Amino acid sequence: MNSDESMQSLVIHGDQDAENGAEETALAPAIYPASTYSARSLAEFAQMANQPRHSRYYARYGNPTQERCERLLARLEGAQAALMMSSGMGAMSTTLLSRVRAGDHIVAQTAHYMGTAQLLTDLLPGLGVDVTLVDQRDTDAFIAATRANTKLIVLETPSNPTLTLTDLAAIAAFAKSRGITTLADNTFASPVNQRPRDFGIDLVLHSATKYLGGHSDLIAGVVCGDADAVERIWGRSIALGTNVSPFNAFLLLRGLRTLPMRVARQNENALALARFLETHPAIARVHYPELESHPQHALAKRQMRHGGGVLSIELKGGEGDEQGFHAAQQFVAALKMARHAVSLGGVETLVVHAASMWEASLTPEQMRRADISPSLVRIAAGLEDAADLRADMAQALSRTS
Ligand SMILES: *Cc1c(COP(=O)(O)O)cnc(C)c1O
Repeated sequence: MNSDESMQSLVIHGDQDAENGAEETALAPAIYPASTYSARSLAEFAQMANQPRHSRYYARYGNPTQERCERLLARLEGAQAALMMSSGMGAMSTTLLSRVRAGDHIVAQTAHYMGTAQLLTDLLPGLGVDVTLVDQRDTDAFIAATRANTKLIVLETPSNPTLTLTDLAAIAAFAKSRGITTLADNTFASPVNQRPRDFGIDLVLHSATKYLGGHSDLIAGVVCGDADAVERIWGRSIALGTNVSPFNAFLLLRGLRTLPMRVARQNENALALARFLETHPAIARVHYPELESHPQHALAKRQMRHGGGVLSIELKGGEGDEQGFHAAQQFVAALKMARHAVSLGGVETLVVHAASMWEASLTPEQMRRADISPSLVRIAAGLEDAADLRADMAQALSRTS
């Protein structure tokens, strides 16, 4: 698949399979709320029980709508199989717990989604799994941190909130040479902008709550990879109970039908805002991989097709941290069209003031180390008219001092 156009065809037809596609005459999938499915014979029951990754057995093991959606998700990420789960964190916790046990070692990034960071720095070490965190920009640091017992390398690119990148191809090649599994959180880029499997990454994870769902109306997660690896994660998911609901599988399939169109528009809106804000006198810095000023722009061009829908900005707001913090708060409060909310990937533009969001969970020192300046505002572009968004940002900036 090499063009936006063929991806757009894929999301419309890619959940059909060769065998039963023809008998599926309803254009929209059915939702089966059943928690359990009956067998028509003893032999059939034995078959259902022994082949439990069967979408008609017991709903914690899967459901038919989910199976259809997973077929499409696997194709989108260029993988053999996909497993939907209850949330992005459900997918992350289940995947991590299926790959490591006490005595194993993980190498991961310093900058990860907050929930992932908590699993890596608190839950897993408490279970006897060693974790080393390294600067994602430094490929050699990943290599230097691996040990004989390293089982997994966890990546996330672009990362939150400074849109910092990790070199997927270089780290995947090293990991392969050492037999270490690689896992990449591809939520921010979406498969429209980046396909980690094309660079040799083993497992690709998403918070489907964001771009894949795309309408701010569902919580779900997915992991894609080789069939045996996904089967192993599924085995853990039925024990952990991180299954997705049939209704959310339906909603996700509905959202996926427009994924390439939506993300193309979000890419355009984010780039237009990044270019506008970069030259605005009230702005100190814009972080966006598609801007030539991004320190890893060359890497962005190698592994991403476009910069994605998320950018972040730092406001000028005077001398000290205090004023920057205040200016960012004023800016966010003055926006009229962009909504003030966490999350991203929906049809509406959302903004968050990072320092306010992380004030409770990070110390000022941790924030400095994560490059979160007090004036940093993350913008997740929606599908609105670009000129309207620009006008909204301009009027809000005119109110900051
Ligand atoms: C939102 C998010 C998650 C967690 O997903 P949920 O669906 O909220 O559980 C994980 N990784 C990234 C990069 C995210 O943005």
